[in-house]
Amino acid sequence: DAFIKNIEAANEKLNAYVTVTTDKARDMAKASDAKLAKGEGGALEGIPLGIKDLFATQGVHTQACSHILDGFKPAYESTVTSNLWADGAVMLGKLNMDEFAMGSSNETSYYGPVINPWRKKNSNQDLVPGGSSGGSAAAVAARMCMGATATDTGGSIRQPAAFTGTVGIKPTYGRCSRWGVVAFASSLDQAGPIAHTVRDSAIMLKSMASVDAKDTTSVDLPVPDYEAAIGKSVKGLKIGIPAEYRLDGMPADIEALWQKGIDWLKDAGAEIVDIAMPHTKYALPAYYIVAPAEASSNLARYDGVRYGLRVPGKDIVEMYENTRAAGFGEEVKRRILIGTYVLSAGYYDAYYLKAQKVRTLIKRDFDLAWENGVDAILTPATPSAAFGVADQDLHSDPVKMYLNDIFTVTVNMAGLPGISVPAGLDNNGLPLGLQLIGKPFEESTLFQVGQVIE
Ligand code: GLN
Repeated sequence: DAFIKNIEAANEKLNAYVTVTTDKARDMAKASDAKLAKGEGGALEGIPLGIKDLFATQGVHTQACSHILDGFKPAYESTVTSNLWADGAVMLGKLNMDEFAMGSSNETSYYGPVINPWRKKNSNQDLVPGGSSGGSAAAVAARMCMGATATDTGGSIRQPAAFTGTVGIKPTYGRCSRWGVVAFASSLDQAGPIAHTVRDSAIMLKSMASVDAKDTTSVDLPVPDYEAAIGKSVKGLKIGIPAEYRLDGMPADIEALWQKGIDWLKDAGAEIVDIAMPHTKYALPAYYIVAPAEASSNLARYDGVRYGLRVPGKDIVEMYENTRAAGFGEEVKRRILIGTYVLSAGYYDAYYLKAQKVRTLIKRDFDLAWENGVDAILTPATPSAAFGVADQDLHSDPVKMYLNDIFTVTVNMAGLPGISVPAGLDNNGLPLGLQLIGKPFEESTLFQVGQVIE
């Protein structure tokens, strides 16, 4: 009831929820109460969560915040949300996001932008919560849920977490099933939680993760008790600091916070080592070939026949054209065009194949660090704090918006786990995050190190 009240009070302004499932929430909460009264119940019994609109929820609108999925109510439930309900969690509703998870500011949603609950000191300017999981991050930050599901293809869990003072972890590729998660770029997409604390995110991830016969890229490895990592000393752990993440023109606040993070970990007994990641600068351009290429293929299924919106035409081809013209927003169309171009005969080798090779080199940079005994890598999570809604500078040039992902895309390209932990405030009083990157399937190390920083 407290969370529903908070949603009723704040959602009109923040626009974090696109669907509120009040009756369902109350029914689920009652069932949880009954279980708890008998001393039964799962790890998340009665915990109210928000669900990013990218996750299929049976009988509940699932539109990836796109016009093209208007009215779509799946007949099935995603594996991740099924796992959460099996552990007793309560669904409050569906959360706003960038259309098909394409964006860094939550401004590409068909349902309008999400507003960050944070403000600069002495300012009333509306700020973005980051994207694409902007609704998830804002809802957690504004106490409109205890935790939220999110997804991360190039940074969409970690960047919004950093912009809202919350914790967001993208687990290793294959840790969570992608079944029932609307596909953006299938070789990069991973689900993960956004929550208030490192401990909360550890508890949530434990429930979300599983091997799943319905997603052959999910991995059959035991899911550890992540919560057990909280409170464990970091003494003797080797933390790598990659010089290539020190960008020209990076705000001084972020540079200073990174140094503070290094000092905190040193004080806690970790060993700090400089490492080289020479292919970092190619990650962003390679990502913006691989991700749109996969997106152009994945989004071919929205044809006006199988799901949602249909705009009639004189024949079937015109119906396809009319539906896709009306149903997709500008950013989604841009991605489909780029993706189709880089996959086309004559350009495939020059762009797509090249980007895949670069991807291997990026992964090798990380492999080398692990081979040299590094346990985790510390970097800033984002190159700036939250920026203004409808920022002219960022909207005049899509590449400027893409630069938001500069510290996060490497992790998706290499399939590694990465966590953003709130680490302090900038001069304007806005939250900033630090990112920890870990070895494949060693999310526990990120929780262990992350709790020293939060
Ligand atoms: N901002 C990146 C993009 O627009 C990442 C999005 C994401 O991680 N879903 O592609």
